[in-house]
Amino acid sequence: MKNETLMQYFEWDLPADGLLWKRCAAQAPKLKALGITKVWLPPAYKGMNGMNDVGYGVYDTYDLGEFEQKGTVSTKYGTREEYLKAVKALQKNGIEVLADVVLNHMMGADGCERVNALETAENNRNQSIGNIKEISAWTIFNFPGRAGKYSDFTWNSSHFNGVDWDEASKRKAVYLFEGKKWDAQTDEEKGNFDYLMGADLDMENAVVRSQLIKWGLWYEETVGMDGFRLDAVKHIKAGFYKEWLDKIREKTGKNMFAVAEYWHADLRRLLRYLDSVDHCMSLFDVPMHFNFYNASNQGGTYDMRYLLDNTLAEHRSDCAVTFVDNHDTQPGQALCSFVQSWFKPLAYACILFRKEGLPCIFYGDLYGLPSHNIPPMVNLRKMIKIRELYAYGEQKDYFDHENVVGWVRMGADEWENSGMAVLLSDGPGGQKRMYMGKKFSGMEFKDVIGKCTETVVIGEDGWGEFRVDGGSVSVWVSVAAYEYLETEIA
Ligand code: CA
Ligand code: CA
Repeated sequence: MKNETLMQYFEWDLPADGLLWKRCAAQAPKLKALGITKVWLPPAYKGMNGMNDVGYGVYDTYDLGEFEQKGTVSTKYGTREEYLKAVKALQKNGIEVLADVVLNHMMGADGCERVNALETAENNRNQSIGNIKEISAWTIFNFPGRAGKYSDFTWNSSHFNGVDWDEASKRKAVYLFEGKKWDAQTDEEKGNFDYLMGADLDMENAVVRSQLIKWGLWYEETVGMDGFRLDAVKHIKAGFYKEWLDKIREKTGKNMFAVAEYWHADLRRLLRYLDSVDHCMSLFDVPMHFNFYNASNQGGTYDMRYLLDNTLAEHRSDCAVTFVDNHDTQPGQALCSFVQSWFKPLAYACILFRKEGLPCIFYGDLYGLPSHNIPPMVNLRKMIKIRELYAYGEQKDYFDHENVVGWVRMGADEWENSGMAVLLSDGPGGQKRMYMGKKFSGMEFKDVIGKCTETVVIGEDGWGEFRVDGGSVSVWVSVAAYEYLETEIA
């Protein structure tokens, strides 16, 4: 089977010009030619900040850029019609579409309500401060601009656990509503990390759960997406998305792919979550991202033997979506942990050329981050193509040196000229003997990425001695593959 490659088709600081859906539709053939097989589109529904909302400040999940709400019909990315066209254009090019699903919280309510609530400590949500008191909470969502189209359901405080703002006293604190508990099965940071922001949905409430399933079915019927990217799952009762996905998959009869964001560097929490949802979804390999980030910050002193240790790809590869950076780790964001540019080719080699995990390409790496004067990553296009064409066959690892590590892919017969030898160094360059296989005996290999210009001849015994320059990656492929790529990418 052809290697799959996912792309995150947005970054945080895109211009609020309402043009992303149109650009995406126009780019669909190019994405296909590049080797992209799945695209993750940003949240497509109206956020509290209208055109300026990246999409995570969810106001109305039924407004895909169709109603005059929050000062605009269009979302940051365009109108409902343009969104549907972009999805169709991608699918016409054989690219699956993942829709971003943000169900932890809602923001920008239409009105306030008097609610009895208990203040809980910011750093320990299980600890209350003082007594129950009446606050004024932004929890009324009746969507006057939509006027009941698609759904006449309206929201009030009974559907939420809490908020972080009392409009009466103008006070910011984490308020838990009377008679409510924070959702069980959430991350244990801050005692219980159910609450993140806005009005937090109460997943213990059966009305809420059934409304969200109803919405999911409407969304699928309207858009016809192929899968989902699930936002902020560590803040949501684990059982919720298990039920939600089961229902959507069952009712649509589609085996919808899903990848969730459980933002934690500790592999054990990710494994625990996967166990608790019966592995009904994949997770982003956050531990691997942090390994890349840490290695990139150590200027050559990182021990490369451990680069892939404690990652989801190593421990539960079937459920791993690997990535280098995303809209939250880019410069300017709260979770900023942007992998330094010198290390990016090494990191992308790990996610693109290894067997384990589905790699996710970040928009900001492919196209650059103009608002931060960051140019597109050199050679990323070529690397995606190399994955599509040549990263096949058995994998043999040589993670045996603190600076220079590598692996080979021994090729697969159905992929012409496939097979490669990859070397990374975070410090000085070096050589390594690696076994390509006897079928390559006598063949010439060239480095298609790095600075090595010599030719390596594979010995009679199937071994080759490959080289990498300092602080870089070299990817050795057969001369036939090398020449094909030179013309293909030019
Ligand atoms: Ca929550
Ligand atoms: Ca909740």
